[in-house]
Amino acid sequence: MIEFRGVTKRFPDGTIAVDNLDLTLDAGKITVFVGPSGCGKTTSLRMVNRMIEITEGTITIDGHDIMAADAADLRRGIGYVIQQAGLFPHRTILDNIATVPLLLGWSKAKARQRAAELMEVVGLAPEMSRRYPGQLSGGQQQRVGVARALAADPPILLMDEPFSAVDPVVRENLQDELLRLQADLGKTILFVTHDIDEAVKLGDKVAVFRTGGLLAQYDEPGRLLARPADDFVDGFVGRDRGYRGLGFLSSAALPLGELPTVTLGDSLPDGAGWVLVVDGARQPLGWIHGSGRDGGLAVEHEHLIPGGSLYEVESGSLRSALDAALSSPSGQGV
Ligand code: ADP
Ligand code: MG
Repeated sequence: MIEFRGVTKRFPDGTIAVDNLDLTLDAGKITVFVGPSGCGKTTSLRMVNRMIEITEGTITIDGHDIMAADAADLRRGIGYVIQQAGLFPHRTILDNIATVPLLLGWSKAKARQRAAELMEVVGLAPEMSRRYPGQLSGGQQQRVGVARALAADPPILLMDEPFSAVDPVVRENLQDELLRLQADLGKTILFVTHDIDEAVKLGDKVAVFRTGGLLAQYDEPGRLLARPADDFVDGFVGRDRGYRGLGFLSSAALPLGELPTVTLGDSLPDGAGWVLVVDGARQPLGWIHGSGRDGGLAVEHEHLIPGGSLYEVESGSLRSALDAALSSPSGQGV
């Protein structure tokens, strides 16, 4: 069980990334932190393995203050998976997965045996074992990242947008496999995403954050959808998102109406493009400029929302990018 008690993170420049967070993550369950870009999800997650120092408050694991533990010991019990799998490019897949067991002093044979088992667990074919990360697709690399995090069998997994950079079909497969794996392994998982659909699908419980690191609602997904605590959550879970969010894509900024329509969930074709985000009345909320890559959207720079606010969207699928833009309150910058 992981508990946040009055946890605040203030960065040296004064930014409050997490504001007085009180929350208990159930042992053996998946808890999802979701919210727009910049709302403090990564910061919250990284305080758990002490990659980021807590400013105020405490985090405990099974009742023990994480600050009382040796940081290296603490991290041995916590697997960590990030968006760009972060694999060692010059090591084979098998050796990437065996990294932590080897660091823990396992024999080479035992570590590789474990790595081979984990490849099966995460659905990687045995013949991948001798390949290098650059020879794998994005989705396969994420599987390796998950296997590597599981290698020393930690009771806790921290997953920071692990599937955001892969295309929608692969992402769904990875989500399904995480659920299957979790049913077998029963880890305590903290999963961060900015995609509400992913949050609802994966979370036993979902914490919705708003900009400023404030927890807006912490609930089971069904309750979140049925009883959003306030307008922000209501907008974010987007019961009306299907018609509220329309996207347009073009290789140049063309007037509204001349652009091919991209509906939520569509992939961007390869190549740079503009996405105009409009509301239900087709009033522009803002622009995203980026390039389609592997069916996802790599956002190159943030854009002005008419009215003057800047906003920023993390790379991810078009759908997530649009969701992030649409879910920022009144089109404000996040
Ligand atoms: P999220 O993961 O939800 O997108 P983050 O936790 O990365 O958000 O960031 C939360 C807020 O803290 C943002 O406003 C971000 O700009 C700010 N922030 C993150 N890291 C730092 C840092 N090292 N110094 C100052 N501000 C930071
Ligand atoms: Mg983040």
